[in-house]
Amino acid sequence: MGGSPTVYGGNTPCVSCIASDGALLVLDAGTGIYHLGKKLESRKEESKLIRMLFSHVHWDHIQGFPLFSPANSPEVKLLIYGGPPQGGTWEQALKGQMDDPYFPLPFSSLGADITFQGWPDEGPMALGPFTVSRTLTNHPGGGYSYRICCDHKIFVYATDTEHPASGVDEGLFCLARNADLLLYDATFFPDEYPAREGWGHSTWQHGIALARAASVRRLLLFHHDPSHDDESLAEMEWRAQQEFSSVEAAREGPVILD
Ligand SMILES: [Zn+2]
Ligand SMILES: [Zn+2]
Repeated sequence: MGGSPTVYGGNTPCVSCIASDGALLVLDAGTGIYHLGKKLESRKEESKLIRMLFSHVHWDHIQGFPLFSPANSPEVKLLIYGGPPQGGTWEQALKGQMDDPYFPLPFSSLGADITFQGWPDEGPMALGPFTVSRTLTNHPGGGYSYRICCDHKIFVYATDTEHPASGVDEGLFCLARNADLLLYDATFFPDEYPAREGWGHSTWQHGIALARAASVRRLLLFHHDPSHDDESLAEMEWRAQQEFSSVEAAREGPVILD
């Protein structure tokens, strides 16, 4: 995310959660998942089970999947949960982008044991040690944000969503309540937003409004626009920090919840 990135990273979205017992939950399969795959190649036996969630099927969130090396490993069991809010399945989206002529190898050639699981009509879902709730995002074609509880910590993944005209998004407010960490869509700078209203993205100011309303401990501003370089993202971060005590622009690399 970012045009010529050195500090804030240049991959499209992929976030992974690692529980204290080593269980892994992957959110989205943007280009960042290629690097995650390289790290996982050296992991131990208990890490061969990988659970995945997707926010939606826009290309920046699925395009890395064909190059996720664990998906091609016969030792790996990959569980993918839920389905797109607009109908169809994640399976169709992931397969479709590998169909000829978009990719040289079909989805069916992948070596891992890949299965697609449903999602309950109501209430949270237990994915190993992760208890996950979700809400719909305000984004073209729809999508989901997720609340992930694990090891007595709460992480909320809320990307590709646009704030309402006034107040905060009710669904996201409930999802983000008392979260230890909120990853929020801050694609547009506030002065850019009026010309991009309806594109399904938000700003750092609305991220802070949501974080304040929901008593979030820490906010990470995510989904940087490709036109924003390191300098402009640093300025965004500085401005945000004048208004909220614990906020940063998201960077590549680990975040530890303690
Ligand atoms: Zn999108
Ligand atoms: Zn996106």
